[in-house]
Amino acid sequence: MRKRKTSKRTGTRALITARLGLLAVGGVLVYGTGSMVTDGTFAGDSVFTMETASNPMSGEAPAAVTAMAPVQPNPSSAEPTTSQQPTVATSITVQPNTVYPGDVILIRSQAATSVQVFNQTYKLKEVNGEYARFIPVPISAKPYTYTVQSTDQKMSQTFTIAAKTFDTDAITVSKQMNSMRQNTERIDADQLKINKARSQSAPTPYFTGPFVMPAKGELTTPYGYQRVVNGQPANRHLAIDIANKEGTPIIASHNGKVVLADSMYLTGNTIIIDHGMNLFSIYAHLSKLDVKVDQPVKQGQIIGRLGTTGFSTGPHLHYGMLVGNTYINPNPFFQDSPYEWK
Ligand SMILES: [Zn+2]
Repeated sequence: MRKRKTSKRTGTRALITARLGLLAVGGVLVYGTGSMVTDGTFAGDSVFTMETASNPMSGEAPAAVTAMAPVQPNPSSAEPTTSQQPTVATSITVQPNTVYPGDVILIRSQAATSVQVFNQTYKLKEVNGEYARFIPVPISAKPYTYTVQSTDQKMSQTFTIAAKTFDTDAITVSKQMNSMRQNTERIDADQLKINKARSQSAPTPYFTGPFVMPAKGELTTPYGYQRVVNGQPANRHLAIDIANKEGTPIIASHNGKVVLADSMYLTGNTIIIDHGMNLFSIYAHLSKLDVKVDQPVKQGQIIGRLGTTGFSTGPHLHYGMLVGNTYINPNPFFQDSPYEWK
């Protein structure tokens, strides 16, 4: 309960934190302090050098990091210059049209095969007779009206990144806890498995509507939570934690195919589901796995049981969603959202 003295968290979260006693740093879960921190991007604290080499849970792509810092809005390209280019078509759609840092946008077009946004070029993939791609919104992107432009510059569409404040929390970890994250051999071995699992994705989406929460329980740690560990800015929690009793059923958040179902060193019994279009969901710390790799799963199907395996001291589900190797905010997927594919 010591966290109540120093933390800005809500009473509920403080309670859960004390109960679970889970800590994860830079994607590495460790335990023993009575605090909960989970994975995120590595923020350069020398204490956490291990995560720079290997970070099984965060998977934050270097390209995304580059894109986010700092995104240089170009006011001249923020709005379609219709006066000078009357033939410019807006046959690119961006869904949703207003997002927050750490979210994701879906680009769709009948004609554009590649687009530029966040100072990068993204090839679109052919999906159901058009071109499309999910693109992560950098978590450090500045609030602004951005433009997605086709690489041939014939089409463009604007969208808005609105401001969002992420909570912060300071915690202290023991030397012993830090030493638990030094088994680079096992962490590297896990990373190879994870990379392989996420290296391919079905071109056509398995999903047709909103995702569902993967477990009943109490949402204890939100997405994007910024950590300060031992006085140093550390990682972000780029997933959501749902606490409940061990054995609570965990269901597939949507249709897909299991691409990883394995016992991992840090994340314990872990499942990764490919939902197509490079979109994945991950379920960590399970007590039991009820699915196997390559198995198709339906939304709502029980895939395992909630647990506290890996570096975790309290039963909870760590649930994340990724575009490729980049964690994105899962919450919009649970709503009546523009992610619905036709
Ligand atoms: Zn977590």
